[in-house]
Amino acid sequence: MNATLARDWMRAAAAAIAADADRLTRLDSAIGDGDHGVNLNRGFTAVVAVLDQELPGTAAEVLVKTGSTLMSRVGGASGPLYGMALRAAGKALPATPEVSPADLAVGLRAGLEAVGKLGGASPGDKTLIDAYGPALDAFEKAVAEGADLATAAGAAASAAEAGAQATVPLRARKGRASYLGERSIGHQDPGAASTSLIFRALAEVA
Ligand code: ADP
Ligand code: MG
Repeated sequence: MNATLARDWMRAAAAAIAADADRLTRLDSAIGDGDHGVNLNRGFTAVVAVLDQELPGTAAEVLVKTGSTLMSRVGGASGPLYGMALRAAGKALPATPEVSPADLAVGLRAGLEAVGKLGGASPGDKTLIDAYGPALDAFEKAVAEGADLATAAGAAASAAEAGAQATVPLRARKGRASYLGERSIGHQDPGAASTSLIFRALAEVA
């Protein structure tokens, strides 16, 4: 992955989030405050504008810039969480023009650890971690087996979608949805849904 591909990934993610903003907001209306689609759409629109203005020289910088923009533009829980994840991922990548799928796996692992540290959620708490974790496991496994970026990203996207689907029967234990207790059961977690859009976007551009 080089800087151009990293920017294409963020553009594709932004387009997918814009197209699905209403669905994300509906999911958040069921178990939260109905702003997830609006929050992320605002943030990723700003990201595209920033990256259009000046393309950084490395994929690492693209991800750091994306994360910083999300942190400053997105309110709610998801701005800091996605922002920290992408910044941590970018900081863990080598500052070279081209990074390998194995490098990206290391970066994405650092991103997941940052989310865990900031939000304190564990797998099964019905958060975006329940899509991100399985996606990253699938990505790492594919890379270890010698897959190219497109194949590894496709496996990650499918695992993220399955993980997001699997949040439906869970009871939320973190974030706003946890206030609902039992009543959070039966709805998909909006952050897990948006995470699967971001992994699917990578599979589309890779
Ligand atoms: P808010 O909950 O502040 O309105 P959003 O609606 O934008 O923020 O984002 C909600 C999503 O953020 C949830 O669906 C969940 O996936 C994620 N989330 C919330 N709290 C946490 C946490 N502590 N750890 C990981 N993810 C979280
Ligand atoms: Mg919300």
